[in-house]
Amino acid sequence: MSFPNSPEISAPQVGRPCKYGHNSGRDKTRHCLECKRLREAARYRSDPAAVMQRRALRPVPPSQTPEGRRSWSRNNPEKIMLHMARSRARGEGYLCTITTMDISIPEYCPLLGLRLEQGTEKRTDASPSLDKIRPELGYVPGNVWVISWKANRIKNNATLQELQMIVAKLTERML
Ligand SMILES: [Zn+2]
Repeated sequence: MSFPNSPEISAPQVGRPCKYGHNSGRDKTRHCLECKRLREAARYRSDPAAVMQRRALRPVPPSQTPEGRRSWSRNNPEKIMLHMARSRARGEGYLCTITTMDISIPEYCPLLGLRLEQGTEKRTDASPSLDKIRPELGYVPGNVWVISWKANRIKNNATLQELQMIVAKLTERML
């Protein structure tokens, strides 16, 4: 999974080619990325063991460890929701024009009233989940809210009329 706007990942600074004509972009300190790659490859060819040892000792950036990714996800639930909404929208042909500004996670599920639980390892009934209020409109500003995973499963992509039919028939049958 790749994370949008992850603070650890910065795009290479593309600019003028280096003095050897590489056009691969520059790192944060303006050094040519291709030259760096070639130097590292040359070092590896001359002394693979030393290079491997240095790599093993190098601290792993948090974005590349499972714990680092988990903690990033815990601290950025809106970004995760947006990321997943965009991917669902692409797959299912919905519009998705919202930003994280359109996503706010309330303390309680507005439909079932249960307290939303964040940061649990596994998804539970009380996990916050992004819902399209009117499914056919897609993820557009004003049409999304965060409800419990249970409420979202029940509602799914049902229209108000379908939900009312279900409630009416269940009431008939169960009471
Ligand atoms: Zn270069």
